[in-house]
Amino acid sequence: MRSWHGNNMGTLSVIATPIGNLEDITLRALRMFRECGVVYTEDTRIVSKLLAHYGIQKPLHRLDAATEIKKTDEIIARLETGEHVVLVSDAGTPGISDPGARLIGKVRERLSGSVIEAIPGPSALTAALSIAGVGTTEFTFLGFLPHKKGRQTALKKVAVSKIPIVLYESPHRILKLLKEFEAFNPLCVIIARELTKIHEEVISGSTEEVQEYFLKYPDHVRGEFVVIVVP
Ligand code: SAM
Repeated sequence: MRSWHGNNMGTLSVIATPIGNLEDITLRALRMFRECGVVYTEDTRIVSKLLAHYGIQKPLHRLDAATEIKKTDEIIARLETGEHVVLVSDAGTPGISDPGARLIGKVRERLSGSVIEAIPGPSALTAALSIAGVGTTEFTFLGFLPHKKGRQTALKKVAVSKIPIVLYESPHRILKLLKEFEAFNPLCVIIARELTKIHEEVISGSTEEVQEYFLKYPDHVRGEFVVIVVP
């Protein structure tokens, strides 16, 4: 049980976890995992693998976009009894294109005495920007572009931006996205693929050059991608 300002409310620790390499976990994150009573996560299999790697065993409960609101009452009840609850996504920082924000908003609204603490660490967003070699005084993060409604507007916003735009994209859609950019002025992109993993690479050039690269090396149209569009 952890207390704050003398009350007996619990703590919600929001922990960033590795985006590939299991060594990318902070000492504080590991301590929180050891000390907590329960872990809520988007993917129990991935988190149990991480915890097993560090010899930690904890009760794991699923909390994904579909169950986030439903699990709120349960988590608030735990915090009210002073429990230390951990929230993680499947990889990276919770709430960054991942569930977390709605739950945290509700906890803030309903339990003013509880502590919500960030245990910072990896995110594909900051990892990609850190090795992109572009100025980051200002940038826009759009996460995944909408698939249908609003896609054209979002693409246009990217194409006319005067500052770098960071996107997340899946391997199934990366070529489609690059092709769609052809409708606009020539754009430069930096693609960070499989960060922190064996096949990590950064590919950069015009959207045409990068498409040619992927067509030449179809094996590289796999894994996870961060796309940075540079003005
Ligand atoms: N919350 C996570 C974070 O902080 O990075 C992001 C979750 S989002 C659902 C998953 C997307 O992040 C992937 O589709 C990909 O675009 C990006 N991503 C995650 N891991 C990555 C990696 N190792 N290399 C490149 N991109 C990655």
